[in-house]
Amino acid sequence: MPRFAAAAVAIFVLFFALSAQAQTVYPIDRAEILAGARFDFKVEFPGLADPAAIKVTLNGEDYAKTFGKAAAFVEREDGKEQSALILHDVVLAQPGTYRVLVSNGTTRRELTWTVYGTGPRKAKNVVLLIGDGMSPAHRVAARLLAKGIAEGKARGKLAMDDMPQMLLVATAGSDSVITDSANSASAYATGHKSAVNAMGVYADRTIDPLDDPKVENITSLVQRRLGMAVGIVTNTEIEDATPAAMVAHVRRRAEYDRIVEQFFAAKPDVLMGGGLANFLPKSAHGSKRKDETDFLEKFRASGYAVALTGPEMNALAAAPETKRLLGLFTLGNMDGALDRKFLKRGTVPKFPEQPDLTEQVRAALNVLARNEAGFFLMVESGMIDKYTHLLDMERAVYDTIMLDNVVRLVRDWSEPRGDTLILVVADHNHPIGLVGTIDDDMSKDAVAPLRERVRVYERAGFPNYPAPDAEGYPERVDVSRRLALFSASLPDHYETLRPKLDGPNDPTAPGTQEGTFVANERYKSVPGAALRLGNLPAMINADVHSGEDVILTATGPGSERVHGQMENTEVFRIIAEALGLGQARAAGSQ
Ligand SMILES: [Zn+2]
Repeated sequence: MPRFAAAAVAIFVLFFALSAQAQTVYPIDRAEILAGARFDFKVEFPGLADPAAIKVTLNGEDYAKTFGKAAAFVEREDGKEQSALILHDVVLAQPGTYRVLVSNGTTRRELTWTVYGTGPRKAKNVVLLIGDGMSPAHRVAARLLAKGIAEGKARGKLAMDDMPQMLLVATAGSDSVITDSANSASAYATGHKSAVNAMGVYADRTIDPLDDPKVENITSLVQRRLGMAVGIVTNTEIEDATPAAMVAHVRRRAEYDRIVEQFFAAKPDVLMGGGLANFLPKSAHGSKRKDETDFLEKFRASGYAVALTGPEMNALAAAPETKRLLGLFTLGNMDGALDRKFLKRGTVPKFPEQPDLTEQVRAALNVLARNEAGFFLMVESGMIDKYTHLLDMERAVYDTIMLDNVVRLVRDWSEPRGDTLILVVADHNHPIGLVGTIDDDMSKDAVAPLRERVRVYERAGFPNYPAPDAEGYPERVDVSRRLALFSASLPDHYETLRPKLDGPNDPTAPGTQEGTFVANERYKSVPGAALRLGNLPAMINADVHSGEDVILTATGPGSERVHGQMENTEVFRIIAEALGLGQARAAGSQ
């Protein structure tokens, strides 16, 4: 969220202050690097360095010999008294442990990298399904609504739960125990930890958000090494952190215009979501670009079929000649399932023909399967996170059900083929708990404050949502006994304990002091509404992410490694292993 930028800057400044004590080296200590994957090597010296005194070795050998080229020496980075060595696009082809020694003649730093290879390829395709910010509570709520429960037993399993392999994934970043969607998606896409707001790069000390040391991502690897197709599908803005991290190399996730340029350079075969605004030239209605480049036209000119509505997408995907598909269905984020299918709120009146995420994925599978070499597809149900930030739990749960429908679709598609690794995972947690139910039968306790309607333990019982439709959605959420899903991280807001039927919740409004937020008065007059004081700094306008491990479930070839507990960077390694991306190759080949 852009409004967190100040926090990110503060974290960055702290990181910078700490790093000024010794040489900082990228990739960082204990980095795990896929054999043959490209990365930039950078050494940041704490002050001015004398190039003649600098010594850098890998396992005792001069780095320039190991990498096959020498780094550029920058005497004063950003004009400051700080020197650096930068070497772009190097690879380490030989698996093993690399001891890296860096000295400026007076201080030295020693670190270790692990370079790993892989066995032979096991999977033809990989589908990575990400529920952005999906907590275990979202999952249980989706199960209760979509499957029902009787006498304590769920009447069915979610497709994402009913999988043979399961793993807990740790999500901390290189700078913080709490990750955002940029560095968490980047960990899955690159196998490297990074900092809040960064993707495809290590966050260096310079100001330029585009010069940070890069690490190669999965989409580049599968295109370059295996000639595979790439699909990126979301229901947020396509430039948002999770989809962007599959391709982009940028220190600041808010650089949407640059991210669109990087999408165009990377040429994913399927690219679908919201976020049309940054593809339109500045003078076009609804554009958010700062230049006059027409990216719809550029994509069309490079052979993409372009869809702006669900029906257009379906028709283009069905045409056998469609090999590349760009679908952009709203200017900003797309609307979630509750608004699109039931309430017709949000931007649905403006964009009535948005496809469902399941339709997007069906179209993507149609197009991608035309590539004989297989494909990597990332699908994000991204509004789970955004609605949860807004304390809008009904919308977040409906989009968790939508993700599960996508999981079922992908599993049904892959089952007869048996050649596709499917991973379902969140990128980070939200501190959401299911604490009971809310009894809203106003005939009882008509004068009791709202909080007295929260039922816990045996008083909670079970919710009374109507039976779900064929897609697992109850037709209404304003029932008299609802799930009580509470966040442990709160801004000041008016608690109504009621679903927001007139559009997504908007708990805060800008305060009188710049950069601060207060409770949105809009909900003050809702009967029973109570001002709830937050437990976060006033600069935060929403619920925030939390640092608990997230659940990953998997099936298909290569999923055997999915068990126990791992770092998020190791999820990349599972994908690399399934695709045999680190197999020793013939001399001269990349
Ligand atoms: Zn978030």
